[in-house]
Amino acid sequence: MSIGSISIFTYKKHKKFELFIQDYVQRSIVISLQELFLEAMNEQNFGIKEIISHAKEYGFVYPSSEIYDGLQAVYDYGPYGVELKKNLKELWWQAMVKLNRNVVGLDASIFMHPLTWKASGHVDSFSDPMIDNKDSNKRYRADILLEDKAATLAEEGKQADADNLLKDMARLLDAEDMEGVRQLIIDAGIICPISKTSNWTDVRQFNLMFSTQIGSVADDASDIYLRPETAQGIFVNFLNVQKTARMKVPFGIAQIGKAFRNEIVARQFIFRMREFEQMEMQFFIRPGEEMQWYEHWKQIRLKWHKALGIPEESLKFHDHDKLAHYANAAVDIEYKFPFGFKEVEGIHSRTDFDLMSHQKLSRKKLQYFDPTINKNYVPYVIETSAGADRLFFMLLCNGYKQVTVGEGDDEKQRTFLKFHPALSPVKAAILPLVKKDGLPEIGQKIYDDLKFDFNLIYEDAQSIGKRYTRQDLIGTPFCIAVDHQTKEDETVTIRHRDTMEQERVKITDLKEVIEKEVSIKNIFREL
Ligand code: ATP
Repeated sequence: MSIGSISIFTYKKHKKFELFIQDYVQRSIVISLQELFLEAMNEQNFGIKEIISHAKEYGFVYPSSEIYDGLQAVYDYGPYGVELKKNLKELWWQAMVKLNRNVVGLDASIFMHPLTWKASGHVDSFSDPMIDNKDSNKRYRADILLEDKAATLAEEGKQADADNLLKDMARLLDAEDMEGVRQLIIDAGIICPISKTSNWTDVRQFNLMFSTQIGSVADDASDIYLRPETAQGIFVNFLNVQKTARMKVPFGIAQIGKAFRNEIVARQFIFRMREFEQMEMQFFIRPGEEMQWYEHWKQIRLKWHKALGIPEESLKFHDHDKLAHYANAAVDIEYKFPFGFKEVEGIHSRTDFDLMSHQKLSRKKLQYFDPTINKNYVPYVIETSAGADRLFFMLLCNGYKQVTVGEGDDEKQRTFLKFHPALSPVKAAILPLVKKDGLPEIGQKIYDDLKFDFNLIYEDAQSIGKRYTRQDLIGTPFCIAVDHQTKEDETVTIRHRDTMEQERVKITDLKEVIEKEVSIKNIFREL
């Protein structure tokens, strides 16, 4: 293994390994695992620390390449995490593609022709303003420093000052006056939370796209980007899909896929990652009808989040103060994380900006002939764009429950993950009470009968109490205990995760009982 031409192992031998790494990474893309988690936990938020530890300890989320101390803002999903995320994505896909006759799917490549990103505006303007503190060497997003300051002012009852600060920021950013933004930070008295000084560098625009090279011969190789959003794969395929699936406007194209952003500050666990997954739908409409469709999708998407079991009071709309270059209306759906209300999904009225730009640069017509009005036009677009990882984090935060159970000397804390059963990574655990008397054989038979329908766990070691606890910690809605009575009357006990109540059920009814609760249809009924 080597970085450049230098072998890491050579350095390790000379005991300068740590220093070498520190030098090499200068702005620390590699940080120690401890730091990684401390950073994630250190977001002035109580509660989030337990959730992040829980996610790691019980097989939901691990830092990427952990044995090398992790890679900042890159994470891997463990055995239960991957199931939860798969269920979440499946639910989104079905709600979009299955429930809507006029929405179809697509799976476009991560690599796209470089001109795609010129047309979309990403080459020229997909950047964030960054600023460093010279004393702590910590890097910040200038706009986030100002937004946080405005939030503090608002909390102190100085709403007018907060509004003015945000207005000034928007004006300076629009004018690309970076010196003005720096001065605003200084004038607002913003200091670095680490060094406590206002010794700031200039503000610079930092493009968030990752680039690499395609082609094996260095001279012929050309620069190419890892897509920063999945939407452009949909736009460039607009006519392919419209023609081959014989779609009529209004119609939508849905896609789930990886996106990559070299985020300046990425330290809120899986909230802000450098490699993440988006679930996006672009809905193509007649020009002039955008506001009614924008309202339509806003309501549909909010309902979807509620149907997952997120309480109404933990969700809200937040209209964008500053619209992106392509939008004429934009709103975020925000969820109340332990560190405040934050965006989990964006709904944007993107006008005809993307299709027009691609039409211009590619010199290929991207028009639709509308038979009902006998006219050709470039459709307008409403986009719904959700982050699978952020929604996953939302589910973890919403589902993480700590309650006190028992009384007196028996009182103890019970932790469980209250996911909607349709989302739970494991639907049921089959637990023979003891590892003898033929109970494991019955358990194994139940497992074999149900394994084609549900994701199950079979466990016959340790006390039943410990096994229940273990299932609570990964959010399994049903524990099925096989006991001696099972041998007599072919019934088992079902223990329900949320209430801990137990009921006796016939083995032959198990499939129906579980199916009723874990079916995606349960969620769809709410939509
Ligand atoms: P933010 O303002 O938080 O950077 P954004 O407005 O740039 O987000 P969009 O470009 O609208 O986000 O992307 C749509 C969705 O993709 C977001 O609502 C979020 O759920 C998800 N997303 C965006 N950036 C990231 C990221 N770095 N890590 C994880 N999810 C992300």
